[in-house]
Amino acid sequence: MRVKRLTLRNFRNYVNINIDFTANINIFVGLNAQGKTNLLEALYFSAMGRSHRTSTDLELIRWDQPAASIEVIFDRQDMENSLKIKLIANQNKEILYNSHPLPAREIVGSLNAILFSPEDLLLIKGAPALRRRFLDNEISQANPVYYRQLLNYNRMLGQRNNLLKKIREGKASTDLLHPWDEQLAGSAANITKKRLESVKKLTMLANLHHRKITGSRENLSVAYFLNGSNQDKVDDLSGWYHEQIKCQRKQDIMSGSTSIGPHRDDLIFSVNGKNMRNFGSQGQQRTGVLALKLAELEFIKSETGEYPILLLDDVMSELDAGRRSELLLFIRERVQTFITAADEQYFSEGKLGKFYRILSGTVT
Ligand code: ATP
Ligand code: MG
Repeated sequence: MRVKRLTLRNFRNYVNINIDFTANINIFVGLNAQGKTNLLEALYFSAMGRSHRTSTDLELIRWDQPAASIEVIFDRQDMENSLKIKLIANQNKEILYNSHPLPAREIVGSLNAILFSPEDLLLIKGAPALRRRFLDNEISQANPVYYRQLLNYNRMLGQRNNLLKKIREGKASTDLLHPWDEQLAGSAANITKKRLESVKKLTMLANLHHRKITGSRENLSVAYFLNGSNQDKVDDLSGWYHEQIKCQRKQDIMSGSTSIGPHRDDLIFSVNGKNMRNFGSQGQQRTGVLALKLAELEFIKSETGEYPILLLDDVMSELDAGRRSELLLFIRERVQTFITAADEQYFSEGKLGKFYRILSGTVT
């Protein structure tokens, strides 16, 4: 996948810009608060239909302006595609994919992108939601049907939780739960099945990279943690969810929330059999996250036939020389990459890629 051109109008601190990219490494250099991350954010938004740092689209529109737009021209399987997103204050966004209207929930899977930012270094020690999002983003881009199943599941979950609260307050009857539980169990099983399959592939890919970075001294494995139960023991996921949801019903009514389902699951990363969350050193976590990100790129390549674009926000300064060169070695000539950096010390100018100087919303 190759982004050829990005056009922004009234997006964040950009009034009107047009940038043509190289197929290899694009480096955005500039002082703080000039607009480097804003460019990555525009590319990420084009891929995921949302920002990686805000859930309110309004923040993306240049102050005092009524609307913003992002347009990307990109090659996918050697075909040129265009994606145009218009953000209008207090209205739904409008998306045109190759000039045809596209519902916002269908944008995922058109332009594929993987973002690696310093927050990802929390992947191992941070909250389970981070790990679920990591996995869901990867599967969704390779398999847009999964993304829609996930949106449906989350909608059902919200509705079931509302109902649970009503039952708790005596405003609805418990019988009303049956149809929801039926649907929820089926949907939970589909999502979990896909996640289990993906984790199998991911653990293999991540371990290959991890062994390379550690000189074969360490083995990384990723396991899926299914609501506190051992995943291998569950053959009939749908039946299992039916049982579990039924067992938890009383408690769910009391708490007003659903305690069983893929929204509560987690990933466990281990090195040489030891859980990294508890025992991983800083360096081991960084190596682990880097291996996982590289595995993510390969996962999408193996599922879709093409590497996604890679967005690296300020990570070069977070990685040591060895890990940095492992990363650059992998992406060179393979993955179109967009890197932000406050200074150029990690890139000997001219050799690595194309430099763009970012100065308060201008690009040269
Ligand atoms: P750093 O090196 O600190 O990460 P950066 O170059 O990545 O900096 P960005 O996050 O891309 O910085 O841009 C931040 C700039 O964009 C800030 O100056 C901020 O005031 C401005 N900005 C953010 N949102 C808007 C908006 N809606 N309208 C106008 N300007 C905005
Ligand atoms: Mg930034």
